Amino acid sequence: MDEVSAPIPEPGDAAAPLRVWKFGGTSVGDLDRIRKVASRIARHVARGERLVVTVSAMGRETDRLVRMARDLVARPDRRELDALMATGEQRSTALLCLALQAQDVRARSLTGGQAGFHTSDLHGEARILEVDPSRVLEELTSVPVVVVAGFQGVTKNGDVATLGRGGSDTTAVALAAALGAEECEIFTDTDGVYTTDPHLVPRAARLDVVDYDEMLELAQLGAQVLHPRAVWYAR
Ligand code: ADP
Ligand code: ASP
Ligand code: MG
Repeated sequence: MDEVSAPIPEPGDAAAPLRVWKFGGTSVGDLDRIRKVASRIARHVARGERLVVTVSAMGRETDRLVRMARDLVARPDRRELDALMATGEQRSTALLCLALQAQDVRARSLTGGQAGFHTSDLHGEARILEVDPSRVLEELTSVPVVVVAGFQGVTKNGDVATLGRGGSDTTAVALAAALGAEECEIFTDTDGVYTTDPHLVPRAARLDVVDYDEMLELAQLGAQVLHPRAVWYAR
């Protein structure tokens, strides 16, 4: 069937293409940027696509939360620090859903726990043990967009745990895997992966293609652009 005569799938139609997108802190850094992210999503929804979107906390919000905790106590309790840090992503998911609704796109936000992320109890560096996609899939039968809070899950006790700084990338890749999506697209403030940090080294070259091993090496050497576990998971 050619593109013109193909029927536009209804949201909830299991045949509708499913995308998994992730927007980092800069992309959702203020309300204007959140509106722009919403517009980009809206254009794809208008084509009949379904999207599962993960977002980071706004701008440097996570750093701000950590600083507040450290102002209170030199070595904050890791469980409480996780409960605090996870709120950054929860705020951006709700704000993005509101921005989508303002553009007449139906969308629902979920915390990591609601989205089925089960983790170990190593607070601050928790590992994903399982992603149960059933709630996300259920939501997608009634709305075209589900927005999942990145960087977090719940332990077997039901406590909130975070995945390590930069962990929203891992949330996105794990969601794509659990949903059987063909791709996982990560939007950030650079237009690709470079040989080294393009903000520090202006002559850094953009890589057209980067394989998993090279990317893992870059990430492990500290290239912030992708969380090492996201690369490991993707591979
Ligand atoms: P996000 O909030 O979107 O996850 P991050 O700040 O975590 O964004 O990661 C993007 C940043 O990673 C870029 O702004 C860039 O300064 C830095 N970076 C470090 N190494 C690289 C690299 N090799 N290629 C691209 N960006 C890199
Ligand atoms: N907000 C978290 C951080 O700043 C997670 C992320 O952005 O991926 O580390
Ligand atoms: Mg990051």
